[in-house]
Amino acid sequence: IETETPVAIATAPARSSVKISNRERVIFPEGKLTKGQLADYYEIVAPIMLPWAGSRPISLVRCPQGRSKKCFFQKHDAGSFGDDVKQVGIREKDGHDEPYLYVDTPAGLLTCVQMGTIEFHGWGARIEDVEKADRLVFDLDPDEGLDFQDVVSAAFHVQDVLAQMGLTTFPMVTGGKGVHVIAPLTPSAEWPVVKDFAHRFALALAQAEPARFTAALAKAKRTGKIFIDYLRNQRGATAVMPYSARTREYAPISVPLTWEELRDLDKPSHWHIGDAAEMVKRAASKNLAHWGRADQILPDL
Ligand code: ATP
Ligand code: MN
Ligand code: MN
Repeated sequence: IETETPVAIATAPARSSVKISNRERVIFPEGKLTKGQLADYYEIVAPIMLPWAGSRPISLVRCPQGRSKKCFFQKHDAGSFGDDVKQVGIREKDGHDEPYLYVDTPAGLLTCVQMGTIEFHGWGARIEDVEKADRLVFDLDPDEGLDFQDVVSAAFHVQDVLAQMGLTTFPMVTGGKGVHVIAPLTPSAEWPVVKDFAHRFALALAQAEPARFTAALAKAKRTGKIFIDYLRNQRGATAVMPYSARTREYAPISVPLTWEELRDLDKPSHWHIGDAAEMVKRAASKNLAHWGRADQILPDL
């Protein structure tokens, strides 16, 4: 007697319970990409996006009428997103608590998309303890006119110097112009210490290689150089989340990658929201499965 063996049937990912209105609305005029396509993208990448972007305070770039109309950067909300988008109270300078947003489910992400969100940005800390950083990020911002290859070699240099200090780092292309070099941290150091480390690291790099790097905030001092934006490493600062779509033309996405892949990449906006399935496949590959994971703390500088 033969017993029936279960057969895995490939199906389209289950649509989450979140109802997306105006699916046909074009929100990326170039390429005529719609809100429905953006929602489908986030539905597919939610399982690989949430391990990093979930359970940390997030800010949203919302463009309800599309990327070429008015967009706004939203940090707080007191409940208009419904129950799937959660809140964490965070102490402001004046001593009162503000409700910040976080998501920890696909439905939470999709609700944000339903509300017109294109980009997801996040704190460098988890909701369990927002005072302790769980990552350092060096946001490499090239001056106009520099080649992407210049950014790539700068990223390798940052990797190298941090590695000499014992920190493992992972690269991410932003979907915009640059690269983020990210060092995961086991939460322990608080923001003033983390910011001081990042600032001094950026200054030291700029001092050692003044022709390539600058840590100066003034735009005029950045000509022909790469600005090491260390300010993503202070309390309340955000950086774009892995797999976030960007509000730029043709809907590029930010993509975690290996150092080997970065070496040969043509541009930081290589992938787009049409590449959701490729993202899921890549994320399961041997080389990327451990992206963003390292048990380490800030060294002395
Ligand atoms: P690129 O590679 O093009 O530099 P990026 O995501 O690194 O892309 P930046 O301009 O370097 O973009 O970084 C801006 C960061 O500042 C964003 O990551 C975001 O988290 C944060 N930010 C703070 N306030 C705002 C705001 N009002 N609008 C947009 N971003 C903001
Ligand atoms: Mn940047
Ligand atoms: Mn920047």
